[in-house]
Amino acid sequence: MSLVDNYQELRKCIAGEVMIVAVSKTKPVDMIMQVYKAGHRDFGENKVQELTAKQKLLPEDIRWHLIGHLQTNKVKFIAPFIYMIQSVDSLKLLTEINKEAARCGRVINCLLEFRIATEESKFGLSFDDAVAILNSQAFADFRNVKICGVMGMATFTDDIRLVESEFRNLRAIFENLKDIYFRSDPGFREISMGMSGDYQLAITQGSTMVRIGSLIFGER
Ligand SMILES: *Cc1c(COP(=O)(O)O)cnc(C)c1O
Repeated sequence: MSLVDNYQELRKCIAGEVMIVAVSKTKPVDMIMQVYKAGHRDFGENKVQELTAKQKLLPEDIRWHLIGHLQTNKVKFIAPFIYMIQSVDSLKLLTEINKEAARCGRVINCLLEFRIATEESKFGLSFDDAVAILNSQAFADFRNVKICGVMGMATFTDDIRLVESEFRNLRAIFENLKDIYFRSDPGFREISMGMSGDYQLAITQGSTMVRIGSLIFGER
């Protein structure tokens, strides 16, 4: 099977309303170009340096999603072009994104990343952290970031019930935040969860956006 076959097979398995972010980290630009030519526009990378290098070489109308941990001092490198930053995990980072977006005359789409996995190593906010951000005066003053929803990664395990409960938890976080802060904002609507190994489960739990790497591009 070619890359494009992989992509088209996957597209058939996933309902049209669920966005596929093709995670191209570690993969060369010619592979990205093959998927682009099949009509795909949303690609995800987890490292700023790799992302900026690829962005320069690839078509302008690609919508780039940053899905990995972002250091505040690197925001300026992606602010001119990034479509969505899915890994917002502090007020400090959001403040920097707002500042750099303003300098570029842009509004940058953001997702709040939550720590839903039981594993220690994962980045992300707790529900209370998010409440503190959304209640802050700083947040009220931001004009150049748009909070579009939430993102999370489940524990890497075969335990389907654990993964399912983590996805259910992220969905509940989304619904709660929507009720409290975004009731009148139709733009707050994304639940980014699910990867190659667990995307079907994520969709049954309400995912609107799946981030798929190896199923499209092959093992890394
Ligand atoms: C690498 C990565 C993915 C995609 O992983 P696959 O298992 O290859 O589909 C999704 N989300 C994040 C945050 C990643 O770093």
